[in-house]
Amino acid sequence: MPYHLSRDHKEEPLEDIAFTACSVAGAAREQSNPLARRREVVVNGRRVKTVDVHAHCVIPEALRLMQLQEPQRRALVLVVADRLREMDEQGIDVEALSINPFWYTAERDVAEKVIQIQNEALAALCAAQPDRFVAFASVSLQYPDLAVQQLEAGVRKLGLRGAAVGASVAGEEFSAVKFHPFWAKAEELGVLIFIHPQSTPELAQRLKGNGWLSNVIGNPLDTTIALSHLIFEGTLDRFPGLKICAAHGGGYLPSYAARSDHGCRVAPRFCDGAIQLKKKPTEYLRQLYFDSLVFTSEGLRHLAAEVGASQIVMGTDHPIPWQDQAVDHILCAASLSDDERVAILGETAARLLGISG
Ligand SMILES: [Zn+2]
Repeated sequence: MPYHLSRDHKEEPLEDIAFTACSVAGAAREQSNPLARRREVVVNGRRVKTVDVHAHCVIPEALRLMQLQEPQRRALVLVVADRLREMDEQGIDVEALSINPFWYTAERDVAEKVIQIQNEALAALCAAQPDRFVAFASVSLQYPDLAVQQLEAGVRKLGLRGAAVGASVAGEEFSAVKFHPFWAKAEELGVLIFIHPQSTPELAQRLKGNGWLSNVIGNPLDTTIALSHLIFEGTLDRFPGLKICAAHGGGYLPSYAARSDHGCRVAPRFCDGAIQLKKKPTEYLRQLYFDSLVFTSEGLRHLAAEVGASQIVMGTDHPIPWQDQAVDHILCAASLSDDERVAILGETAARLLGISG
């Protein structure tokens, strides 16, 4: 199947993975110890602690509480030995675990319980493997006051490193005033908020049919809409210290960013005169963070050109098999300097997530 990257190469010697995938001779020297299963990533003689900001899991007890036990979700149950083996093979030293929200329509007491179960379980996973896992807290954003408490408790009491959120909350945009207390708390705590899309549910009818368009188009579009509202509604001006990381390279936004700078000039009637942005819309991209899940080194080159290499952090979507060569795409992006490769592979994420070297 030409469009399915074979996973068979995992059975090949690790050296082959390191070098056959990369045509950049000498620029990035990446080596593996053939005696060890764990792939160690080295850039120009420097061992890099690689960090994956986009790694999924679910907690079965929380799924049961919501009567969600379908096979697709069960596949995300984290089995530590299996997860570590796959991370070792891919050259991932640390995963920042997150749980995609399925509780945004739950009643308050159920949502509260789901979050408590998940955050405690995530903290326990991280405590058992402190060198390999950190985690984003789950928060019940449909009850912003509760989400504020959950974020603070998750970070201060459980050692979680931020929060993972969808791209909207049961049809409401993040820029809505009701969510301001949550953004304020995230800014105050200085923690990273990871935005992961959820298929643009409002377009479900149009995204039916062959090709899993709800995901391949719906997900990047969902992120694009979420980030655009945070920019255009002035949310990022109101909370300038907010640290946001968008999944999948920020969806389509960085691919066609310049159009955002021209809308209000071409059709001012569609723009709210009361909202005076402090910067050009595209300039906000340079204060957001984006994972590297754009599949090709050329995609990565373009993303870096639009947002800055300093804003990109490695993301794999693991264990969902979208990408098992995340390290190689970064190593092989000829446009990047070695310092930029080191930053994207782990240095920037380690700083954002409080991971020590
Ligand atoms: Zn994902």
